[in-house]
Amino acid sequence: MKQKKGRVFSGARPTGRQHLGNYLGAIKNYVALQDDYECVYCIVDIHALTTMETTLALRQNTYEMALDWLAAGIRPDETIMFVQSHVPQVTELHTYLSMVTPLGKLTDLPTFKEKVRLQPQNVNYGLVGYPVLMAADIVLYRTNLVPVGIDQAPHIEFTREVVRSFNYRYQTDVLIEPEMKATETPKVIGIDGQQKMSKSLDNHIELAATPEETLQRVMMMVTDPQRMRRTDPGNPDVCNVFSFHKIFSTAEEVEMVNLECRRAGIGCVDCKRLMAKNLNESLQPFRERRSELAQNPDQVWDVLQEGAKRARAIAEETMQGVRRAIGLP
Ligand code: SF4
Repeated sequence: MKQKKGRVFSGARPTGRQHLGNYLGAIKNYVALQDDYECVYCIVDIHALTTMETTLALRQNTYEMALDWLAAGIRPDETIMFVQSHVPQVTELHTYLSMVTPLGKLTDLPTFKEKVRLQPQNVNYGLVGYPVLMAADIVLYRTNLVPVGIDQAPHIEFTREVVRSFNYRYQTDVLIEPEMKATETPKVIGIDGQQKMSKSLDNHIELAATPEETLQRVMMMVTDPQRMRRTDPGNPDVCNVFSFHKIFSTAEEVEMVNLECRRAGIGCVDCKRLMAKNLNESLQPFRERRSELAQNPDQVWDVLQEGAKRARAIAEETMQGVRRAIGLP
């Protein structure tokens, strides 16, 4: 097997069936990283509890997400893929890291303030400690690199500071400071043409949707708002359908749309149909793999159990060093 360059960790909340935004913004990169790195990918169900009002869909959402990751190309024989709560050591490490993290630092974080604004009725203790749990996730697996967009750089810096505080307080080097692996991921705009694609905004297109459902969603996409009639010339530069063409259509088709839209040579309906066709073709292999896997749900749970077993082995080794460093009896 090829020599890997180090260990990568990433986690995502169990949001159920994944959409194009999830795929282009994260999963595609998860798949690519496997070639060069030892990857640890975690479905962070404990994090999700800080904002969830009900856990009724938690199990199903975890399963659907894992199914999508596998169908998209995560290779469980190489990559450790698991559920956060299946490795209890993370909550233990969270507790120890919280002892070296000043409370004021957590309550001053813009992400905490934003969450307070979004859910003033549920400002729970877990929300405050969220970044510490995230730091525990990362360092528990002796992670070298965390793939994040540049806007998430403060989270990694926070983790590095927590690690430094811990190592300094207990005069140890047991925890590793992770590095950020800056990733260029496109911001995928939803079918409303305005906001980032998101399930909660219902502006998404699911990877596992049928071709007909996909076409229906594409037909709902907002286009150039200045183009009122078929005979009006359009501007592809301000049209989200065109952004999708650039990802899923051939160079010739992109050139054709770019030209014909500007001189009203193509209507939005035909333009969308072409994009939906290309999108469906590109998702076809994923959908076939997904329905194969879905025939045996136990297999998906087995992958998660096996991943958790491997993750626990790394975690326990880290925790033995941590407990020793602290001087726990
Ligand atoms: Fe957008 Fe295509 Fe309509 Fe032009 S023709 S405005 S690119 S949907």
